[in-house]
Amino acid sequence: MYFLNYDYDCKQRIGVLNNSKNAVIPLKEFFLKEGIKELNSINVLIQTMNEENINKLEDFVDGYEGKTLPLDEVKILAPIPFPIRDIICLGLNYLDHANEITNMPGAEKNIPKFPVYFNKRAMPAIGNGDLIDSHPTLTNELDYEVELAVVIGKDGENIKKEEVEDFIFGYTIVNDISARDIQRNHTQWFKGKSLTTHCSMGPYIVHKNSMRFPVELNIETKVNGEIRQKSNTRNFIFDIPTIISDLSKGMPLLAGDIIITGTPAGVGLGFNPPRFLESGDIVECSIEKIGTLTNKVK
Ligand code: MG
Repeated sequence: MYFLNYDYDCKQRIGVLNNSKNAVIPLKEFFLKEGIKELNSINVLIQTMNEENINKLEDFVDGYEGKTLPLDEVKILAPIPFPIRDIICLGLNYLDHANEITNMPGAEKNIPKFPVYFNKRAMPAIGNGDLIDSHPTLTNELDYEVELAVVIGKDGENIKKEEVEDFIFGYTIVNDISARDIQRNHTQWFKGKSLTTHCSMGPYIVHKNSMRFPVELNIETKVNGEIRQKSNTRNFIFDIPTIISDLSKGMPLLAGDIIITGTPAGVGLGFNPPRFLESGDIVECSIEKIGTLTNKVK
């Protein structure tokens, strides 16, 4: 199932795609049928829907004959515009990207032996079709990073590797937009990763039941139609069971937490000379089975 957060008739609502993936089924009717108070936030939905409800929703979608909204008549918003906490990020989690960064002049050759974690302030996240603010007075080195985002589905601590899938709600795409000069100047990544509009997310959260686990998905970025990043999530240095099991040791993960799993080679910083984003550029981040997240730089 493909969950989305959308604007229709100037109202924000949540829905799922029909099985042909060309129209939205509003969830209001399902909530009424099941006696669930109408939910307008995917965060609350994640916290509310147990496995039984998800199965009922799958049946509801399969048998749905009511009114749908054509996809081109709704404005798709970030599926989680207000993450419950900062997004947890992985750095250097694809070998080719770790090599492109650590082979740069002055960098230390250092392929991580433990996952590299940092956080990204992401309130609010932008969605498909929204503009990326280039913050021209703050940065000259605006960059893109396509990433598979994992959305946690239930609270957990000390999660065993073999139980990790139980704690996942689903998957989406995040463009971890980055101001490289700010990252460098502060010798720490938080601020350079956290300017407004620099977390683009969507277009959908694909429920884990629609994905084979562990996920092996093609992942790609195009800038103005030119392929810059191209890989597959099977090339992670640390896979999702390792990341979630390791992160949750002595540090609870909560339903709605978002973990972005790192980016492959081909970021603007990795080119010689670097190819940073400029005003007017169109960035398309795609992941197989999820979709394409497109944003223009203002
Ligand atoms: Mg990143």
